[in-house]
Amino acid sequence: MKIYISADMEGITGTTHWDEVDKKSPDFEEFQEQTTAEVAAACEGALKAGAKEIWVKDAHATARNIIASKLPKEVRLIRGWSEHPFSMVQDLDETFDATLMIGYHSSAGSGDNPLAHTITGKVAHIKINEVYASEFLLHTYAAALCNVPAVFVSGDDGLCEEAKSLIPHIVTVAVKHGKGDSTINIHPQLAVEKIQEGVQRALEGDVSKCMVQMPEHFSVEIKYKDHSKAYRSSFFPGANLQDPHTIHFESDDYFEVLRLLAFVV
Ligand SMILES: [Zn+2]
Repeated sequence: MKIYISADMEGITGTTHWDEVDKKSPDFEEFQEQTTAEVAAACEGALKAGAKEIWVKDAHATARNIIASKLPKEVRLIRGWSEHPFSMVQDLDETFDATLMIGYHSSAGSGDNPLAHTITGKVAHIKINEVYASEFLLHTYAAALCNVPAVFVSGDDGLCEEAKSLIPHIVTVAVKHGKGDSTINIHPQLAVEKIQEGVQRALEGDVSKCMVQMPEHFSVEIKYKDHSKAYRSSFFPGANLQDPHTIHFESDDYFEVLRLLAFVV
């Protein structure tokens, strides 16, 4: 079994303020350690379920957050960004059996996490087929292009609910609840234990039940906070300016959606 783990920080236990997920801030170290602990727990759960190969994508900001020496020896760690349109699941391909997401968070447009956003803080929201698109949704569809199911996600409870409604068989571990600019968190060690157990359970189950249903057509709306960014992006091939802050894009091919996002977000 070959497993892909994509790790973000805004859905790690405790993270509440941007300073805590910013490498340059003195607040960062505590949450860097918790991120590493949650990813290591996912790896241990995967190994217990029989994984032989685990690739981890450090997928937050600089993508240089996870402390490699604290992960099991079976792990290959992807640091930095290749700028491939697969983004937070770069280097995922058909040879993998399952994807897991750790530390994922609610989308731009959601009130379920004080750090809610989609890809960058520049967009007010991204909608696909009228629904707010989270990074979880975007990368679950990317994995589906490679026929790889998304079997586990940890993060804020709003995202976990979204994941369950998209993929009823997915195993989720909600580590926090967002309220306004605050979060209510479970204990960091409990999060680690729940993630290890949940990942093992997910991978010991029938992972094929976690294959997301891909839409046949993608209608994409991107609303920017800054109107000048919308104007510039409206010149991407196939994109149209819908209103001064918003562009619209249509395709049957999800890779073209990822290509759009890689260039205009
Ligand atoms: Zn992030």
